[in-house]
Order: sequence, then C-alpha cells, then structure tokens
Amino acid sequence: EERTRDAETKTHALEKAQIELKESAEQLRQSSNYKSEFLANMSHELRTPLNSILILSEMLAENHDNRLSDDDLEYAKVIHDSGEDLLNLINDILDLSKVEAGKMDLWFREMDVYEIPQHVHNLFSPIAKQKDLDLNVDVAQNMVEIFHTDVKRFHQILNNLLSNALKFTEQGSVNVKVELAQVTPTMKQISDTWLSISVTDTGIGIPKDKQQLVFESFQQADGATVRKYGGTGLGLSICREVVKLLGGWITLRSTEGEGSTFTVCLPSLPDGNISTLISEQEV
Ligand code: ADP
Repeated sequence: EERTRDAETKTHALEKAQIELKESAEQLRQSSNYKSEFLANMSHELRTPLNSILILSEMLAENHDNRLSDDDLEYAKVIHDSGEDLLNLINDILDLSKVEAGKMDLWFREMDVYEIPQHVHNLFSPIAKQKDLDLNVDVAQNMVEIFHTDVKRFHQILNNLLSNALKFTEQGSVNVKVELAQVTPTMKQISDTWLSISVTDTGIGIPKDKQQLVFESFQQADGATVRKYGGTGLGLSICREVVKLLGGWITLRSTEGEGSTFTVCLPSLPDGNISTLISEQEV
C-alpha cells in the first residue's frame, strides 16, 4: 500500500511539474509576443517623424538658392545619411519582429529566373564599380524559367547577401550563381524544383568559430569590422528567418582572409503551401 501511495505522490509531482512547465511556456510565448508587438508598433511610430527628417534634409541638401554655406550643406547631408541609416535599422527591426511574431505576410507568385542578373546589376553595379570589383551573375543553362516564391522577400535575401559581399570585399570579385539544386527524396516531398543561389566573394572571410554566430541577431564577426564597415548585425538573421519562411535554408562556407560563399536553397511553391518544413540536417 505504501508503494502505491509513493507512486501516487510521484505521479502528482510529475503532473504538477508538467502544468508548471506548460504555464511558463505560455508566459514565455506571451511575453515574446508582447515584445514583438511593441517593436512593431514602435518601429511604425518612429518612421513617421523620420520621414519628415529625411524629406526636409534632402530638400536642404539640394541647396536651391545657394543659400547654404559649405559647412551647412555638409551638415544637411550628414543629417540625411544618418536618417537613412536609422530608417534601415528600423526597417530591419520591424522585419525581424514580424517574422518572430509569425506576422510576416507572404505572397507567392511567379518569378522569372532570367531577370535575376538584371536585378543584381541595376542595384549593385554602381557600388561594384566604385570599389573596382568584378560583379558577375551566372544563370545555369538547364535552369527553369519560372519559379514560384515570394519575389519581394527573395529580393530582400539576395540584396542582403550582395550588399554584405560587396561591403566586406576590398579587391577581387563578387559572383552570383543561380542553378537547380540537387533534389533529395525528402526535398521532393515539398517541391520537384529547388533553386540554389550562391553569392561568393573574395573578401575578408569569416573565422570558423564565428560562422554560426553571424546568423544571430545583432552579432558581427568581430568588433573591428563593426567600426570599419558599420551595420547592425541584423541582415543575416533576417535572411535566415525569411529563407525558412520560404521553405528553404541558408548555408555558409568561408575561409578567413580568402572569402565567403553564402548559399540559399529554395523550393518552388506554386500554391505557397509549405506543409512540411525540413532542415538541412534531414537532407
Ligand atoms: P551587418 O552586415 O549589418 O553587420 P549581418 O547580419 O548582415 O549584419 O552580418 C553579420 C556579420 O557577419 C557582419 O557584421 C560581418 O562580420 C559578417 N559577414 C556577413 N557577410 C559577410 C561577408 N560576405 N564577408 C565577411 N563577413 C561577413
């Protein structure tokens, strides 16, 4: 009888612990939701006054009647540039909080894969030229023409990877490669068509022990790069989360002092239905 009582006490304790665990998980989830909601609201409220700062400082910097002294003109430009940095930061925080709160709306539609080179060149040729870097985009021969994904988010990922590649490279090249990914049986359950897009640079590279870290929020490979190159440390965490939302994953191969390759693997999803998410480890 004593043994039965003992077992009962143990079961009770176990049940109690389970309930407590559930409650704290719920509390955690709720406070995480509050945090995301707060950040989303704050970011929105910050953007309104910031827009006035941006528009007005831009008008000032145009210096229509040549009323500004050289110094004043310089100040107006600094106000405008700093405003833009702040806007980028706010947008990043807003994006990250949206993803975390599961509130990032996706719109899957057709994307013409052969338009990728044009997109890249339009946006990044000026910076590449300025830094005297080669910028190449190569679309594989056997590539499908039409691919289904959230095109806006796809561009966001690509832009993030390219601006990093160009930022952290002082000489050499940045190469973008678009091809069909090898589809394993697990991947086939999600889509027959997977795209692999990689951005390779001949830049500073990322040390082995920092390669996981760079995908975390507000993390940068080392303090010196922050001072030299600026940035918020949010770009790659946004990339990772958005890529996950699109059903894929992102990997990094890098050698310090030689360069880095970021590769994104994405399924074509005509109905935008990601029923099963798989992680790279399963493939
Ligand atoms: P940010 O570039 O704003 O700092 P990211 O999240 O995009 O934030 O990148 C995080 C860090 O990863 C960077 O600060 C940098 O240290 C490292 N990193 C990212 N891309 C590259 C790259 N192509 N080459 C070298 N280091 C990189």
